[in-house]
Amino acid sequence: MSLRFDAAQLERAREILTAGPICDECLGRPFARVGRGLANAERGQALRAGLSERGKAGVCWVCGGLFDRAGACAERAAREVAGIEFDTYLFGVQLTPRLEEMEAFFDERFPSDEGESLKHAFNRVVGKAFEARLGRPATVGFASPDVSFVIDLASDALRLHVASLYVYGRYRKLARGMPQTKWPCRRCRGRGCPSCGFTGKQYPESVEEWIAAPLLEAAGAETARLHGAGREDIDARMLGGGRPFVLEVLAPRRRTLDLAALREDVNDRAVGKVEVSSLSFVDRRAVATLKESRAAKRYRAIVEFEEAVSPKRLNEALSSLLGEIAQRTPRRVAHRRADRVRLRRLLSASGKVESPRRAVLDLEGEGGLYIKELVSGDEGRTSPNLSDRLGVGAAVTELDVLEVRSCAFPEGGGSVDNTEALP
Ligand SMILES: [Zn+2]
Ligand SMILES: [Zn+2]
Repeated sequence: MSLRFDAAQLERAREILTAGPICDECLGRPFARVGRGLANAERGQALRAGLSERGKAGVCWVCGGLFDRAGACAERAAREVAGIEFDTYLFGVQLTPRLEEMEAFFDERFPSDEGESLKHAFNRVVGKAFEARLGRPATVGFASPDVSFVIDLASDALRLHVASLYVYGRYRKLARGMPQTKWPCRRCRGRGCPSCGFTGKQYPESVEEWIAAPLLEAAGAETARLHGAGREDIDARMLGGGRPFVLEVLAPRRRTLDLAALREDVNDRAVGKVEVSSLSFVDRRAVATLKESRAAKRYRAIVEFEEAVSPKRLNEALSSLLGEIAQRTPRRVAHRRADRVRLRRLLSASGKVESPRRAVLDLEGEGGLYIKELVSGDEGRTSPNLSDRLGVGAAVTELDVLEVRSCAFPEGGGSVDNTEALP
């Protein structure tokens, strides 16, 4: 804890002291990089001692006594996070316009390339006081803190933000007629009305709710959002290895969750409807990665024809469809998606005629290929299409997703599955 100031530094400090009453923190700030492991207040005291000068008495003209409030801010923050689990935290302060001005003036009049700003210094001092009050370890997290506070000096408000938890996994949807995410009632838009039995929901259950319920309870949270790598139709099942998803749990009170136990809990409660696997913690960037990944998907489609179709004719038509398919936004989703033409590849296709007017197709397409429209043609909006190639009207009556091919996430004990990763 040795602190030595040279003559030039002492002279600058003398000038600062003569400018007006100043606190130890603000006197020490322009010298923040002198001496390691010290607080600015200690630097300020050392400067006064070195100069044998106490300076003018009164409230600090730079910060107006802001640092005297650090303890109260820390106390308040510690109360706010009582009962909330976290390892990392971060403080941010919004100065009043007057403080901004005084700080700019101070910096202009006594410029320093070894100093620390008022904001930075205050955040750090509050943080240290906060840690001392917690009575347990916590560290500053600059990149993605578990909890963060904003101290708004103008309104004397302290705002707490608890970072979301992100849980990656894969889900299988074993029942038809269930949307991936909770749909607000069309009539009341979620407020609750007689038509939805005052649930506010268009469908009584969703994949999202089945997965979220046990996790919300375990995390002591109220809201969760399911981000899927695409979504199947409400009437389609999602089979095979399941579809990758990230469940975002907002404002969790607990962050240490037993994912193996939660996986069983979800699967027990949602038996016959939803099944999850490969649960693991990921960071928030996983959501964007998931949304960008255009995983290829394999489907099983039951198709009915308007006239009899022979196996040979069906398989010739299917082979002729392989490659690029141009799809204008299907009519059934046109109300919520931009109307445009997209090109997606049909990667493999085979079919088995079960009766003259009914077949089971096995199709694999790039992410975003609409299967129902590939079969029906959607009144010419999808081209080429199976119906045109056969010269017979065709429609999908049942659709299942058998496999979602690609996945950019580590699964199964932390090993990275690169074999399926898309370029
Ligand atoms: Zn001050
Ligand atoms: Zn309603």
